[in-house]
Amino acid sequence: MTTHIDSKLKKIVDGNDYINSLRNRDLEIYLFGELVKEPVDHPMIRPSINAIAQTYDLAIKAPELASVISPFTGERVSRFLHVCTSANDLVLQNKMQRKLGQNTGTCFQRCVGMDAFNSLYSVTYEMDEAKGTNYHEKLKQFLTVMHRYNFVVGGAMTDVKGDRSLAPHQQADPDLFVHISKRTKDGVYITGAKAHQTGCINSHWMLVMPTMRLGEGDKDYAIIGAVPVDAKGITYIYGRQSCDTRSMEEGNIDVGNAQYGGQEAMVIFEEVFIPNEYIFMDGEYDYAAMLVERFTAYHRRSYVCKSGVGDVLIGAAANIAEMNGIPKASHIKDKLVEMTHLNETIYATGIAASYQGFATKSGAYICDDMLANVCKHHVTKMPYEIGRLAQDLAGGLVATLPSEQEFTHPKVGKLLQKYLKGKADVKTEDRIRILRLIENMTLGRNAVGYLTESMHGAGSPQAQRIQIGRAMQLEYKKRLAKVIAGIEVAGDKEVLVEEMTGYFARVFKLG
Ligand SMILES: Cc1cc2nc3c(=O)[nH]c(=O)nc-3n(C[C@H](O)[C@H](O)[C@H](O)COP(=O)(O)OP(=O)(O)OC[C@H]3O[C@@H](n4cnc5c(N)ncnc54)[C@H](O)[C@@H]3O)c2cc1C
Ligand code: SF4
Repeated sequence: MTTHIDSKLKKIVDGNDYINSLRNRDLEIYLFGELVKEPVDHPMIRPSINAIAQTYDLAIKAPELASVISPFTGERVSRFLHVCTSANDLVLQNKMQRKLGQNTGTCFQRCVGMDAFNSLYSVTYEMDEAKGTNYHEKLKQFLTVMHRYNFVVGGAMTDVKGDRSLAPHQQADPDLFVHISKRTKDGVYITGAKAHQTGCINSHWMLVMPTMRLGEGDKDYAIIGAVPVDAKGITYIYGRQSCDTRSMEEGNIDVGNAQYGGQEAMVIFEEVFIPNEYIFMDGEYDYAAMLVERFTAYHRRSYVCKSGVGDVLIGAAANIAEMNGIPKASHIKDKLVEMTHLNETIYATGIAASYQGFATKSGAYICDDMLANVCKHHVTKMPYEIGRLAQDLAGGLVATLPSEQEFTHPKVGKLLQKYLKGKADVKTEDRIRILRLIENMTLGRNAVGYLTESMHGAGSPQAQRIQIGRAMQLEYKKRLAKVIAGIEVAGDKEVLVEEMTGYFARVFKLG
């Protein structure tokens, strides 16, 4: 297999290796109307790189939690590169995600790729079985290369989509969904754009996948392939985040979370070549729905990441109450309990989806689709309520604080130190730092990760309601009610536990 990889490259071990691996890649990235020379050194981009670096550092600090022994290379690699072969593997992904949310207070960007190749692993297996293709073996070869270098793989699913009521091939402009625009004996060329791509610039490779169920007319849109991030023909247009230029100012207080941030960009593909060995679907439109449904099952329970981020926000709210001298007030305690209850509800449904995981034909484990959708649906609401309560405890200063420059100003600095004091034994600066963190997570840069990504990432709320509706087994529930209400259920017999199908088969599975 050609790897398109510089033979001098070494395996990435820690966060520093990772950061250095991103240098000198000559990517075409636009930000503020200019080309970014070196993203690694850009003050607005760097916090998002630091967040991914944490995934490598956690793998060193807690190897059992954040790394695995690769079945392909026999060496230790990031858990983000692992294909789950047990329910416990799924559970450990969630535990790692919660810890990384706690360590960064933001999106650490690696789960889309992880969930993409976990779903691809079983879909390519079943496609090959049905169609006689050889995608699964090629995917394993690709994963071997990723493991060899311990790379970051991004997942590029969401197309820009144009008119949402039309299928890809019905759009006025065929490029509104990524599609095959040229074909040679060696591979295919793709054209189109993917929106909101988390961590794309911080990745080494991307898996490009269809965004939705496809029909026969969409055959050219049924393309899945792996593309190096620095492939010829790719343009990145960096997404702005609320208050993002604060990281380009002097000082490190107003930014709220100086070290870590998320990243999204639009990725535009103009005739980008994918060689045959990196193609994992080409025209099998009838398998696009299976891929999207399996991907969202994994990814919607990956949103337990938000419970880790929520831990930071709950901690910030508790700190500000203490700094204001009111930690014992009953309504404060009650609000912290409510925040924790909401946060643990997210975690509980996500981790349950993993514990209730099961084996696919390929041997890869997938989590419970119903519970994963319930988890993500909670995530579209609960972080907003947790954020509201954090702002309640913070007081109005969360939105009216003067800038860091005023605090160091020869005249007004002393006045602010005096008048913005909370409890006598708490430094005014510490109180300001906590308020800025709450601002950052509920109104600023990391509100993108904590709130809007919670709403739309892995699908907007309606997408989960559709899946929950499909799996809710209403006929079975209606029969239960009729039997208990004493209504005769004609020509029907009780479904025994061992005869259950769908969600309830998983609920009542013993052992
Ligand atoms: C911060 C962030 C990070 C993300 N990261 C990634 C990533 O790494 N990789 C990736 O592939 N994607 C990513 N996404 C994309 C995410 O999956 C999409 O935002 C989501 O699927 C919604 O698509 P959209 O943004 O185009 O919204 P729209 O599709 O425009 O949805 C807007 C509203 O219209 C409704 N709607 C849309 N279509 C229809 C229809 N046909 N009929 C009825 N109602 C409809 C929706 O339910 C929603 O209420 C990310 C998104 C965000 C916000
Ligand atoms: S939003 Fe959460 S699940 Fe998605 S990539 Fe970021 S950290 Fe991972």
